[in-house]
Amino acid sequence: MTFDLLIKNGTVLDGASNQAYKADIGINGNLIRVVGNLRGASAGQIIDASGLFVAPGFIDIQNHSDSYLTLLEIPSMESLVTQGITTILVGHCGTSLAPLSTPEALKSIQKWRSLAGANVNWQTFEEYLGTLKNYPLGVNVTSLVGHATVRRGLLSDQIRAATPEEILIIEKQIADSFEAGAKGVSLGLVYAHEANSSEEELLSVAKMVASNEKMLSVHLRSEGGHVVEALEEVIGLAEKSGCDLKISHFKIRGSQNYGYLDEALSVIDRAYQRGVSVFFDVYPYTTSWTVLYTYLPKWAYEGGKKSILQNIKEPSSRKKIIDHLSRQETNLGSVFIATSETNPGLTGRTLSQIAANQEVTAQEALLNVLEATATHAIVFDRNLSESVMLALLKHPLGVIGTDGAGYDFSFSPTHGLVHPRCFGTMPRFLSLIREKNLMSWPEAIKKITSRPAEKMKLKNRGRLAAGLVADVVVFDPHTVGSRATYENPYQQADGISYVVINGKISFAVREPAQRVTAGQLLLN
Ligand SMILES: [Zn+2]
Repeated sequence: MTFDLLIKNGTVLDGASNQAYKADIGINGNLIRVVGNLRGASAGQIIDASGLFVAPGFIDIQNHSDSYLTLLEIPSMESLVTQGITTILVGHCGTSLAPLSTPEALKSIQKWRSLAGANVNWQTFEEYLGTLKNYPLGVNVTSLVGHATVRRGLLSDQIRAATPEEILIIEKQIADSFEAGAKGVSLGLVYAHEANSSEEELLSVAKMVASNEKMLSVHLRSEGGHVVEALEEVIGLAEKSGCDLKISHFKIRGSQNYGYLDEALSVIDRAYQRGVSVFFDVYPYTTSWTVLYTYLPKWAYEGGKKSILQNIKEPSSRKKIIDHLSRQETNLGSVFIATSETNPGLTGRTLSQIAANQEVTAQEALLNVLEATATHAIVFDRNLSESVMLALLKHPLGVIGTDGAGYDFSFSPTHGLVHPRCFGTMPRFLSLIREKNLMSWPEAIKKITSRPAEKMKLKNRGRLAAGLVADVVVFDPHTVGSRATYENPYQQADGISYVVINGKISFAVREPAQRVTAGQLLLN
């Protein structure tokens, strides 16, 4: 037998079986032809995987490359390929790059990136995908449609519930996006432009998701003191509509709230037992990467950027905000400015340092940073618990998502200090499997391959079997891990030996210059 590519002598974790087994993999074109004993076969290219694990390409079901604009700027997405990711789902947290019924719609990404330099010349979801198809994509890409993007195209800067007529237009735009290939809808209920959506509006969206057999991916209204109510809200939407529900980047913020873990998980478990199709993604880090204005009380930011700045300026509302911050956040001073595009000099400084410099409290410093950056600041906050994180990684309804974006290996002031999860989520997860014995290797691999593939309805990816598309990762279980840090995230992961995407070797650790961009836009 002759193959284009032969991966031989490896230990296969195929994404379906509960056992690892020795097998060779024969690939022709973009398809896996054989998984079995291929001794004596010849091939154009041979990978010797002796001593290594061979797994399906990792699937990132929670990726932000579109809203950070790097999907357009750095479509090769090296930080994802080199950690073994072969397919991503973008369009999360209420925001996608289409449909753009008016130029206003794109402003839903402004909390993460300024629009300067956004090279956008499409309106509909179909036109967006048509453009993206011609990009040299490093990984396979598929997208949700963002609810905030749709409603902002319609309501512009108005912060209010949509009228029944507007709800019909929102439904039509979502239906057209589904028709073009969108995998579902995302909500970002914590953010200013969605916080005022009525239950009727959200339920209409959830029902559309259900009737089209798509996915609803939700950034919860609260990840802190009101996390249980926030879960009950979206599980209610899923239960009433019958839609598939994914909780995005599930976590519990703030040490005073860690105790809600058991109650939060029991709300999810009980819903699952009642037949609600609910699951969540989680990243293996205890530092969150957060839009700074979401630290304010909801009333202070739900009017959008202008009203945030007004509320900060006006003495009585300023005092109320500071009282709120003093009550909520135990360790505000350690919050670290990761990116401030409008004021790059703040990057890398903590609120304590800024406060000391300005001779004010950390709460005052936070408000000063929001003013100095016109509200566009993103921060790192060590506000998550290791034991909560481990419990979520282990939970049967949990899969792993980066909640990060694709970058290359060069620092730029525009991108600032990005979260290390953009470079190391999957290797770090695998290193935790090795070091903490969290679960078996086959179970861990399912959480980053076949489970997300099933949820995204990717029928021919996420497993290693004859006839499926050849997205394959070869890695060393003894050394796999992340080197990316908060101070220097731009570092390649350890232990990822080869990444094959659509049958082509996209990354080989010994020949880093040989990289090709073999990703495709996935429409179905
Ligand atoms: Zn989010």
